[in-house]
Amino acid sequence: MHTAHCQHDDHEHPGLTGPALRRALGVAERRCAEDQERLTPPRRRVLELLLEADAPLKAYDLIAAFGQAGEAAKPPTVYRALEFLERMGFAHRIESLNAYVPCRLDGEEHQAAFLICDCCGAAQEFEPDFTAQLAAASAVGYEVQTVTLEARGLCPACRA
Ligand SMILES: [Zn+2]
Ligand SMILES: [Zn+2]
Repeated sequence: MHTAHCQHDDHEHPGLTGPALRRALGVAERRCAEDQERLTPPRRRVLELLLEADAPLKAYDLIAAFGQAGEAAKPPTVYRALEFLERMGFAHRIESLNAYVPCRLDGEEHQAAFLICDCCGAAQEFEPDFTAQLAAASAVGYEVQTVTLEARGLCPACRA
């Protein structure tokens, strides 16, 4: 799902398909079971759409693509599923794009930071190190709840 103006076609598509997609959904299902949660069909479907995509998806993309036979979802169904996926750490919201990506890092709670390509729209997650910033905040008496780091630029394929 590249933006129309991107002329670069040698991207590695990080979207999952086939066995890799089924494996990722299986991992999510097991983590839900461990936490006494359920990956209900709508939650599973939204996660599947995020995993298949090669760029961040907006809520209305998810609503439009929700039905297997092309029918749209009721918006609250998708918003509730996104809320769940974010809470479980299966998906992140990229604030500057108002769009969602599946979590690409394993593990429990983590801060997510993103490298966003302004040409093709791809977003790559990396684990930021906010140690210095958090220490500076605490030195002036702040208790930080979240930090957002979204770096904009060109991905390797679009730079080439
Ligand atoms: Zn993540
Ligand atoms: Zn790019």
